[in-house]
Amino acid sequence: MTRDTLTPAQDAGTRAGLAAALDAGAALLEAGGAALDAVAAALRVLEDDPHFNAGRGAALTWDGRAELDAAIMDGRDRRAGAVAGVTATRHPVDLARAVMEQRAHVLLSGPGADAFSRDHGLEQAAPGWFALPEREAQLAEMKAGGGTFDVDMKYGTVGAVACDAHGHVAAATSTGGVTGKRWGRIGDSPLIGAGTYADDRAAAVSATGAGEFFIRASVAHEICARVRLAGEGLQAAAEGVIAEVAALGGTGGVIVAGPSGELACSFATPGMNRGQATSDGTRMVAIYRDE
Ligand code: ASP
Repeated sequence: MTRDTLTPAQDAGTRAGLAAALDAGAALLEAGGAALDAVAAALRVLEDDPHFNAGRGAALTWDGRAELDAAIMDGRDRRAGAVAGVTATRHPVDLARAVMEQRAHVLLSGPGADAFSRDHGLEQAAPGWFALPEREAQLAEMKAGGGTFDVDMKYGTVGAVACDAHGHVAAATSTGGVTGKRWGRIGDSPLIGAGTYADDRAAAVSATGAGEFFIRASVAHEICARVRLAGEGLQAAAEGVIAEVAALGGTGGVIVAGPSGELACSFATPGMNRGQATSDGTRMVAIYRDE
C-alpha cells in the first residue's frame, strides 16, 4: 500500500472505515465494557465495509466464492473460538465467538461451521453479499497473471486488539484469505497462536500478511511468549517477530495491545491500515509507513 497504489477514494474510504471501527470499539470501552466486546464490535463494522478483505468485499477463491476465516480470543482465561472456510455468515467474528461460547471446540471449518452458524441463529447472507466486482476483477487479474500468489500482494484482513478498564485484553481477526485460494486453503487468521492470540499475562495480537509465513513463525503466540518469558516490551517483541517473518520471505504486520493499555504495531510492508483510540480521547488512523 503506497500513495500511488490507492486512489483518493480508496484512501478516504479506508480511513472512514477505520474511524468507524474505532468508534464502535471505543464506545464500549468508554462505557466500561469488556475488551472482548470491543474487538467484536470493531470487526463487525469492518466486515460490512467493502474496503477491507473480510465479510462483504472479501478476497475470492479460485472458484469466485467467499470462504471466510475468523478468530476471537479472550485474554482473561484464554478461551478462544475460530472458524475457517465459512460461506454464509454475515459476521464471521460473531460465529467465532459463538464457537468460543459453546465451549466444546475451538475451531470449526467448512460446511460443518456453516451448519453450526444456522443452528445457532447467526445472521446469514447470500453469496452476492460477499462477492463484489472489484474482487472479481482481482481474481481475473490473478488468473491472467498465471494464477500464482504474490507474496507482496495487498492484504486487507481486519483485526482488532483491545485492553479494557480492568486490564483484560482480547484479540479478533477476520478475513477472506488470499485471492485465488484453492483446495480449502486456510491462512493464519483463524489459527490461534498464528494470526490471533490473547493472554492477560502478555498481550493481545492480531496479524495480517502472507498467512503461510505467519503460521510457520507462530507469530501471535511468539510475540506473547517474548513478552511473558523474555520480558521484552510489546514494540520490541512485535518488531522481532515480524523480522523473523521477513527473514523467512514473508510480508505483513501486527497490532498489539498489552494489559496496561500499551499499544504497538509493526509491519514489513510500505503501509498497513491501522488506527488507535486511547482513553484520553486520542485518535489515530493511518495507512502509509511515513505517517
Ligand atoms: N493473513 C491472511 C491470510 O493469509 C491474508 C491477509 O492478511 O489479508 O489468509
